[in-house]
Amino acid sequence: MNRLAGKVALITGAGRGIGAAIALAFAREGAAVVLAELNLETARQTAQRIESETGARVLAVETDVTQAASVRQAVSEAEQAFGAPDVLVNNAGINVFCDPLTMTDDDWRRCFAVDLDGVWNGCRAVLPGMVERGSGSIVNIASTHAFKIIPGCFPYPVAKHGVIGLTRALGIEYAPRNVRVNAIAPGYIETQLTHDWWNEQADPAAAQQATLALQPMKRIGRPEEVAMTAVFLASDEAPFINATCITVDGGRSALYHD
Ligand code: NDP
Repeated sequence: MNRLAGKVALITGAGRGIGAAIALAFAREGAAVVLAELNLETARQTAQRIESETGARVLAVETDVTQAASVRQAVSEAEQAFGAPDVLVNNAGINVFCDPLTMTDDDWRRCFAVDLDGVWNGCRAVLPGMVERGSGSIVNIASTHAFKIIPGCFPYPVAKHGVIGLTRALGIEYAPRNVRVNAIAPGYIETQLTHDWWNEQADPAAAQQATLALQPMKRIGRPEEVAMTAVFLASDEAPFINATCITVDGGRSALYHD
């Protein structure tokens, strides 16, 4: 409790899934949280739930991370409501899984617009204030796709590799100003995104079973398990952790083969 007391945190894509779990965990730890989400209705419902469950100060703001002005506006609303964000979690992301040579230009662009430009837009909006104040923590939600490749999942891993590069570059750039930039690489986590992917397969139940069979723990992760890591990185418990990535995948990416 209170590991984030007095802090203001802005989380993108926080209406559901991992982002909503992070917002709830941050609120439980005493932060004022801003849910910056494309779907305002979902964000409002999640904000109400978090507020009634934790008593924390919570704000829902309609935000499209692909638009720099929209993200700047969200940061400005956060400042007006609670004060300048001490913590930013760039969580909003989409799956774009294609064959490289049949992928359309639009697939490429929408993947990078959300999964990489979106992260940069978030960083760009909060960094001047954090640099000026001499403190801040940015947590970028990458993926194990940031260092492993599954054929047919192009170009999502390319964008997620970029998220790690961005994390390391900005982490080094602003370390002298006490601004830490880190990433989390989740493996399979049980969210709508994962269910949507299973449901797109020819045999969704078989696809789900195949995924579970691949996991060393014989289960996939829960959004709260990513959220716990985000709390740690956002908090003052990680003052010397910078420009790196913590993997939350139950050990899956360490496995060569069964
Ligand atoms: P979900 O699809 O469940 O949630 C993502 C949220 O982001 C949705 O609320 C979505 O809104 C929102 N969003 C999408 N586009 C934008 C945008 N342009 N601006 C603002 N918000 C947006 O995904 P997860 O919770 O599963 O994933 C969260 C992050 O974790 C992503 O970056 C994903 O790549 C990453 N990740 C997820 C894994 C998993 O197994 N689930 C594994 C590894 C990484 P809307 O509903 O309106 O589209």
